[in-house]
Parts: sequence; structure tokens; C-alpha cells
Amino acid sequence: MAQTTPNHKLTVSGWAAHDNSGVISPYTFKRRVNGPDDVSIKILYCGICHTDIHHVKNEWGITMYPVVPGHEITGVITEVGSNVNGFKIGDRVGVGCLAATCLDCEFCKSSQENYCDKVQFTYNGIFWDGSITYGGYSEMLVADHRYVAHIPENLPMDATAPLLCAGITVYAPMIDGKLHESTGMRIGIVGLGGLGHVAIKFGKAFGHHVTVISTSPSKEKEARERLGADDFIISTDPTQMQSKRRTLDFILDTVAAPHSVGPILELLKVKGTLVLVGAPDKPLELPSFPMIFGKRVVKGSMIGGMKETQDMLNFCGTHNITCDIETVTPDKINEALHRLVKNDIKYRFVINIGDTKSSL
Ligand SMILES: [Zn+2]
Ligand SMILES: [Zn+2]
Repeated sequence: MAQTTPNHKLTVSGWAAHDNSGVISPYTFKRRVNGPDDVSIKILYCGICHTDIHHVKNEWGITMYPVVPGHEITGVITEVGSNVNGFKIGDRVGVGCLAATCLDCEFCKSSQENYCDKVQFTYNGIFWDGSITYGGYSEMLVADHRYVAHIPENLPMDATAPLLCAGITVYAPMIDGKLHESTGMRIGIVGLGGLGHVAIKFGKAFGHHVTVISTSPSKEKEARERLGADDFIISTDPTQMQSKRRTLDFILDTVAAPHSVGPILELLKVKGTLVLVGAPDKPLELPSFPMIFGKRVVKGSMIGGMKETQDMLNFCGTHNITCDIETVTPDKINEALHRLVKNDIKYRFVINIGDTKSSL
């Protein structure tokens, strides 16, 4: 484990959960010294993702405590290994969910390393040397350069951080659905939260007609006026749902709470595609009739590969796309996690790691 691995000699300050109470407190731990394939990164910002909550509370039963969460990391390179090309000290970079993959399988060889069977994540993973990975709720990170992306100069480091998970999670299925190859498609975004609000921005930047599908009528004004959505359907209103039957080419479902996808499928045209990126902890109800009668496709998608992550960041640079965020100091992490559980955030918390005036 990390503490006993010989080259884990760097002492790093961070914030960890120590048990399933989910309370985050200061934690000092060891990281490996910068290896030949590594870059060291002074972390400036780290977004708070819903996945962090699942891990700190051990809701998926896989947490190895103490867990240092965080996989929406931005920072500046402070050290570069001898095998590393393309990065130099002072570069503005980001790290997302990936820490290691096998580098040898069909997925690793085709820039889809996020689907490698040996994938290890930025926190709560097991690195090649057997150590447990610790994430971005910390002052610095040593990362293999193959899982590091450049951040375009015009993008701010705080509002860019969530793009490393939330952004790529919605961008990758849109590319897979060929939304970048034409304009004027009619696309739907289910759920207006951390993922959904970025998906609207991408959909509009690709040149499509974007419909938000939500249970909350109160979100319509914001979706249309501030985020640029073209239409808004209240999913609990059967009349509205009925009137929009067979109108959409592609739907991205970002909702992590249990819900029925049958009525959503009816919104798709024949041969339309529904992509699930939210991860409800219970199986979804998936009625066969809307699939069969409309030859519709339901599929999933998980983050993206590193080439795609860089493409996404470059696209955001070109179109000035960032996340809508609220920054918090490290002493407010617990408060932020609590508010995130209640969906009391528009739309992503980002920890200002550099702001250590205040500590827990
Ligand atoms: Zn995430
Ligand atoms: Zn692989």
C-alpha cells in the first residue's frame, strides 16, 4: 500500500474520508516520487463530482479508506519525467478519472483506454506499483503523463476543472452519436445538473436544437434564457410528453436517480438513440414496446479516452465553454458535499485547493 511502497516518499497534505460517515478531514499521506513517465502537478482546483459522495460514504461498497476523492483536477506542472514529451514545467494541465490502463489492449491502442479492462482510477484505484491512488482533494498529484491533458490558455482553471469528468462524460457520447458531423439535429438532455448544463452548451455549440427534459418547471427560465436551450419539456406532464412524441434524434439521460426511461424513449424518432450517463444504483425500468415499435437504441457511456478528453478541452477553448461553478475553500468541503446531495448547487462545486488560508 502507499505508505510502504519504497518510492512513495513525498509527503502531501490533502483531505480524506476515513469511514462511511462521509466526513472529510485533513489527511497527510505519501505519493510516489516523480518517475520517468510522470509529471508532478501543483493542484489549483478540484471539482466535486457525485461519484465523490458515493465513495466517501461507501455507497457502492468498494471504498478503501482513507479515501482522498477528486477527479476533476486542474493545476500547473512542477516536474517532468525523463520519458515525457509534450509537457513542460509551468504548463496548465488537467487530470480526470484515469490513472492507469494496460496500454496494450484493443481499447488502449485505439484511444478508448477508458474501456480498458485493467483501468485504474485517479482515486480509490490500485496503481501499477500496488499503491492505492489518492485524488485531487490534495495539494499535489503525481500522474502518468499519458493521462494528463493540456488546458487551452483562454479557459479559467476553476470553471474548467469539472470538464475533466462532467464535460467529457457528456461530450464523448455526443461524438459517438456523430453530433459533431452535422447541424440542426434535434437533441434532448434529460436532467439539468452538473452534467446536463454542460451538455446544453455542447449541443448548442455543435449547432443543434436542444430540448431540456426535466421534472422541475422552475428550471425552464434558466434553461432557455441563460443556458440557451430551445425547448423545455416537463417530463411529469403527460400532455407535453405526448405532444413531443417522435420529435428527437438523440437523447442524453444524465439523471442519477431511479426513473423510468419508457416515456423518454417515446420522445425519440424511429431509430433514435438514448444514451445513459447517469448511474442510478437500482436497475432502470426499460419497457420493450417503445424500443421495438420505434427501432430505438438504448446504450451507455463512461467518460472518454484521453485523445477525446483533449479534443473536448480544445473544443471548449474554441467555443469558450466552461462549467457554471461555485468555488469553496477546503474547510467548506463537507458543507458542499451536503448541499450537493440536496442538489443545492448551480451547477458544480469546485474546491479552491490553493486557498489554504483556511483549513479544516
Ligand atoms: Zn466524476
Ligand atoms: Zn488496456
